[in-house]
Amino acid sequence: MQKAHWQDWHVGFISAKIGVDILATQFPLSYLWKCTLYTTWEPCAMCAATIYWANIGRVVFGASNEMLDTLVGEHPENLTMTWDCRTIFQGGKKDIQVIGPVESVIPQIIALSREYWHPDNCLSI
Ligand SMILES: [Zn+2]
Repeated sequence: MQKAHWQDWHVGFISAKIGVDILATQFPLSYLWKCTLYTTWEPCAMCAATIYWANIGRVVFGASNEMLDTLVGEHPENLTMTWDCRTIFQGGKKDIQVIGPVESVIPQIIALSREYWHPDNCLSI
């Protein structure tokens, strides 16, 4: 029997994309530029691009993609890329402010994620 986390990262990206589409229809870009997106883990390349196109002006993340990569390792459901979101944003034409990692929350994020990615906590499919 195969175990999975139901490809949470892709689902998360699709949810983020839908959320951004809704935001973009509900709020003017000038308003979104003044918004801050808070997230436990650093945005991946896909999420960073979504944030860029949504015109969100600031991101605060708790723990970095490097830390996630170290935590998850070679997990087949989460082939983490270690690109940092600052590098992704620097490839664009907007000056998105990035704050993180936030040292005071890293231990808690690591502990919760370690439990989540433990093989015993995968769903059976
Ligand atoms: Zn992502």
